[in-house]
Amino acid sequence: MDQMQLGGFEITRVEELNAPLTSAFQFFPDLTKDMLDAARPEIPNGHLSDSDEIILSFHSYVVKTGRYTILVDTCCGNDKERPSRPAFSHLNSNYLGTLAAAGCRPEDVDFVMCTHLHWDHIGWNTQLVDGEWVPTFPNAKYIMARREYEHWDRLMQDPDNMHRFGFQDSVQPLMRAEQAVLVEDDHEIDNGVWLEPCHGHSPGHVVVNLASDDAKGAMTGDVIHHRVQLVYPKLSTIADSDQSLSRRNRTALMERHADSGSILFPAHFRAPSFGSLRSKIGKDGYDFVPAI
Ligand SMILES: [Zn+2]
Repeated sequence: MDQMQLGGFEITRVEELNAPLTSAFQFFPDLTKDMLDAARPEIPNGHLSDSDEIILSFHSYVVKTGRYTILVDTCCGNDKERPSRPAFSHLNSNYLGTLAAAGCRPEDVDFVMCTHLHWDHIGWNTQLVDGEWVPTFPNAKYIMARREYEHWDRLMQDPDNMHRFGFQDSVQPLMRAEQAVLVEDDHEIDNGVWLEPCHGHSPGHVVVNLASDDAKGAMTGDVIHHRVQLVYPKLSTIADSDQSLSRRNRTALMERHADSGSILFPAHFRAPSFGSLRSKIGKDGYDFVPAI
């Protein structure tokens, strides 16, 4: 389990699992074999399979601000039916045990914050108890960007929407339990913890900004998925709902945070999962400097 201090905030990464997702060339439609071969020296072992599938980590971040315990993104979850992703269906991981080992029991969480409402960021919002999906974190308010919520709520009637299963078992029960709070894109959760819109991967995706003392960082959700995008920041993914908006917002975010001392906490980088970006001299892309 990786942990660091960011000013007065204690941040812990809680990993649910690592898994190959799909071929790098399928996931990044603009990636060519030559590009990947040129990037290989900059991608550490364990981030690509032998057959060039991208290997992702699925993890949450626990942020203890001194006043609140905030859980950012809740991975895939146990027992969930995911017809379009059989490898992630009916999981039985020890996520809650790992979370407890990080000093965080479910009842300790004050806020759950999902950067967006895809199935692999909302799973532990709920758990199956006596055949019903109930909130995993009994005392938490679940913060969701209103724009994101309304988008997926509208799509619930669409049978081709693969995310409706997640919405049904991991979002709607929070509304029924009256633990969901829909907020605007710039909502402040605590002093130094606030949302910022970064749309494109999904229509209402937000980044969670952090600032404490002189330290700063950003939990970037799925704005960046994989280390190959540090080599080629313009690479959007098939999972992006608007690839050109995603490209614009991703490159702007990386440019703004690079060389600034800011720590980025992406949702899917394998360990070392968080660090800062350093510009390369004379070419595009960034070096990744792990924070721990
Ligand atoms: Zn996503």
